[in-house]
Amino acid sequence: MKEQLLLLIGLQECDSQLVKLAAKKTRLPEEIQAMENDFQAYRESIEQNKQKQEDLKARRAEYEAAIKKIGDGMIKTKERLLEVKNNKEYQAMLKEIETAEKTLGEMETRIIALMEDMDKLSVLVKQDDAVLAQETRKHEQEKKIIEDDLSAVDADTACWTEKRAELQKQIPADLLNRYERIKKRNNGVGVISVWKAVCSGCHMNIPPQLYNELQRSNELLSCPNCNRIMYFKNQEKAE
Ligand SMILES: [Zn+2]
Repeated sequence: MKEQLLLLIGLQECDSQLVKLAAKKTRLPEEIQAMENDFQAYRESIEQNKQKQEDLKARRAEYEAAIKKIGDGMIKTKERLLEVKNNKEYQAMLKEIETAEKTLGEMETRIIALMEDMDKLSVLVKQDDAVLAQETRKHEQEKKIIEDDLSAVDADTACWTEKRAELQKQIPADLLNRYERIKKRNNGVGVISVWKAVCSGCHMNIPPQLYNELQRSNELLSCPNCNRIMYFKNQEKAE
């Protein structure tokens, strides 16, 4: 094939790869962020039982503090009982103690109920933890694949940029300008393959005479429809 055309085809390959890499550089961090958001939502949903467990623990601590306070109050009341001088006061204090004991009994009943709920919850939390650990591993693995892909982007970009610079040096300025101009107008593709008289860029038919010329001539020919520089490529032959 004509040397200049080969250089342009190489340049086009570099440009197409660089466009793809730039898109990846934008897309992959977004993918990672979306994965993180999904996983965070999942974690919150699976940790609901754990949250309930924490709430119950806090309530139990509250009840226990209240019980202690009532107990301390009762000790003081009983001490004062010994110093009481009249019967009316004595009866009032007995009533006070009776009420406090009743409250204590209720609180203890509530704590027992709480502890039963906590036992049931801890079974669920254990199951949830196992599932979460498994899902976390899976999530980390999936994330690492994308992160590795992303970290390869910079190296690949440098590689294709260098390759492009090498090719560009060998292409005459006017031809390079022509390529850049056509590329700009055609979604980043300035050089296109033609097979069976069809342009792979715009999918229009190439007139038979031009198609014949393309296969024989040494001229750089353009697609009459999209204006891209054409080259003949047998798509059925393995590369
Ligand atoms: Zn075309």
